[in-house]
Amino acid sequence: MAKLREEVCWANKMLPACGLVTMHSGNASGYDPESGRLVIKPSGMDYDALTPEALVEVDVATGEVIGSRYRPSVDLPHHLFLYRRLEGVRGVIHTHSNYATAFAAVGRPIPLCLTAIADEFGAEIPCAPYVDNEGEHIGEAILRFRNRAPAILMGNHGVFAWGPSPKAALKAAVMTEDVAKTVHLAMQIGTPKPLDPEEAEKWYDRYHNRYGQPG
Ligand SMILES: [Zn+2]
Repeated sequence: MAKLREEVCWANKMLPACGLVTMHSGNASGYDPESGRLVIKPSGMDYDALTPEALVEVDVATGEVIGSRYRPSVDLPHHLFLYRRLEGVRGVIHTHSNYATAFAAVGRPIPLCLTAIADEFGAEIPCAPYVDNEGEHIGEAILRFRNRAPAILMGNHGVFAWGPSPKAALKAAVMTEDVAKTVHLAMQIGTPKPLDPEEAEKWYDRYHNRYGQPG
């Protein structure tokens, strides 16, 4: 768990560093399927004060906190829900990042109008209708309204992003905010033009299958 704690601590500290959160808002977690446990930011802790050891370890099957003197983020139930229900997810991030949350405030998806959106998300970034944060309401809305994009806007609330590692989830959260900002700017000067679905598919395929260096 030491490596996962390092990764999740880093992902949390990147949230303010990337301008995605202010004060105590937002949180990142990571999941280790071998031990069946996740680690998540403690509730209300300053990002500056966060250390790998301070992260709260939780049994994903039972939701039980394992030997921590801190309480976990209040968003723990949504993180637990996603690890239990989304195959292959190892990192989850929640933010109220400004540009993306502006789309959530008006209940609009971020349209598939940029190659950068096709690359990372392969679809529009959907916006789920408002739900409260009781029980599994957020998790269930994510499952119901998500598409293949590794991020979703929650109406009147903010962003959830996920991926096969905490770093991948961070990238999805950063890219969500970045494309939201560009699309917002585009809307000031005109109407964003949808990307042709076949063209979008080409970008998505190239990015997911041929981009970067061989591993
Ligand atoms: Zn929130």
